[in-house]
Amino acid sequence: MRILVVSDIHGNLEALQTVLDAAGPIDATWNLGDTVGYGPNPTECVQIIKDLDPEINLAGNHDLASTGALSVAQFNPTAKAAATWTRDQLAAKDRAYLEALPTTSREGESLFAHGSPRDPVWEYVDDDRTAAALFREFTFDTCYVGHTHQAVVARFDEASERAKVIHLSAGTALALGDARLLINPGSVGQPRDGDPRAAYGIVDTERRSFTTHRVPYAVGLTQEKILDAGLPSPLAARLGIGR
Ligand code: ZN
Repeated sequence: MRILVVSDIHGNLEALQTVLDAAGPIDATWNLGDTVGYGPNPTECVQIIKDLDPEINLAGNHDLASTGALSVAQFNPTAKAAATWTRDQLAAKDRAYLEALPTTSREGESLFAHGSPRDPVWEYVDDDRTAAALFREFTFDTCYVGHTHQAVVARFDEASERAKVIHLSAGTALALGDARLLINPGSVGQPRDGDPRAAYGIVDTERRSFTTHRVPYAVGLTQEKILDAGLPSPLAARLGIGR
């Protein structure tokens, strides 16, 4: 079985469509949240996710902010403006759909969260200490998270009880089930690891592997739509540099 692993789509239709084309035939989808927010096509992206009907489908902080379930008080001004804009764009049925999604999930020995399993909405797993604490606190073989918009892996060292967060370059394949891993597939719609290409992962259940992928998409078109929509211009600029 080939499973598409996506996160942080952020209303970027061009990136999402390109990822779906590049991924080829898939048997299931795991969506780690933040389907909307920042990007100019929240409704279209929600519709695509509804059609894919992901096996794992999580709500992130931006999804919940756009439904009103989460206060935008902790958001910076740019994120706040985008969340308010997104809320106005989404139909009530789409807001209800996002609001009903869980923030964590489990399937067998795999654990899923948007941010982290202990704070699924807010915590960023971007340093060794945080990663190690999660390995110690939770039971899983592989934990999949999003939220940081960076494609990374952390491997738990059972002897020292430490973990190291390592950036994943495109094409890297990880063996699943040997060591305990924490994996972030990166962001489809707003990468922040210096590579502006859309990021996604593929789990191959027969080979027991996770492979990270990057694919170029029509960034210029998304940027144009962001500016035309009256969304804050830094949201367009950052897509060009992947930061
Ligand atoms: Zn996000």
